[in-house]
Amino acid sequence: MSVVPYRDRLRPGAAALAALLGEWDRCRWAWNQAVARLNESGEWVRDDVLTSWRREHDWLREGSVVAQQQMLRNFRAKRAKGQGRRKFKSAKRTLPSLNYTRRGFAIKDRRLYLAGGLCIPVVWSRELPSDPGSVRVYRDSIGHTKVARQRRDAARKWARKVVANYGALAVEDFKPRFLAESRMARKSADGAIGATKAVLIEYARPAGRKVVLVPPAYPTMTCSGCGARATSRLLLSQRVFVCGSCGMIEDRDRNASRVILDRAGLNPAGAEAVRHSDLLEVRVLAEPEIPFQ
Ligand SMILES: [Zn+2]
Repeated sequence: MSVVPYRDRLRPGAAALAALLGEWDRCRWAWNQAVARLNESGEWVRDDVLTSWRREHDWLREGSVVAQQQMLRNFRAKRAKGQGRRKFKSAKRTLPSLNYTRRGFAIKDRRLYLAGGLCIPVVWSRELPSDPGSVRVYRDSIGHTKVARQRRDAARKWARKVVANYGALAVEDFKPRFLAESRMARKSADGAIGATKAVLIEYARPAGRKVVLVPPAYPTMTCSGCGARATSRLLLSQRVFVCGSCGMIEDRDRNASRVILDRAGLNPAGAEAVRHSDLLEVRVLAEPEIPFQ
């Protein structure tokens, strides 16, 4: 017998989605309890422990026993494969995933019914050849991937324009570590900025444009007029740089671009700051087109 996974998209309404996320929170709690117990006493939880937890906590009892049991079975399953360590499932960093065995779900009228009275419409991509033996309901990161694709398209369009208009480019080799708090958002922001730079360099080099990568060192805090460094970082909302030493007032991006061009050994006179509208802190800096022979 072979098992074939079928993957179809669910269209839960707001109430069903909230119920699924509640279910996920309860299951996650059970998993994390099991991790804590394993860490403290080396003990692997059994199904009867779940029964006692459910007796103790009304809110846990509100959730499906099938989903919670399956969570603990998954917790133990990898043990059989010799994978000893278990990590806590963080609310922020773990994508929701619920597993239902045959007694925890039904498919009727093309809808998915889950233990606990949930009914969710399914966008079926094809007919199932037989009744499924188990169901996993999970949130994937497709909403991310869509944003990533839009960003990539925007980055390409923008990079083509920059390459067409400028003869030499100085790109700050910027590591955006303070952009976002959570790991997922940070990964995505880092990835987007890295991808934008990569696209720019990919387009610039074959077009014969000079590309200089400049190590980041306080370009937004440095005065392009006199070289003095401000004592505090500009907030992203502060669009104007005011030098405390020489009194120069300049657009934030234009000032930073001159600093970077200077560091890149390019002529900062008449520099233009080019900024990718989608990305807060990518600084791609360019000097005006030098007619190319
Ligand atoms: Zn100054």
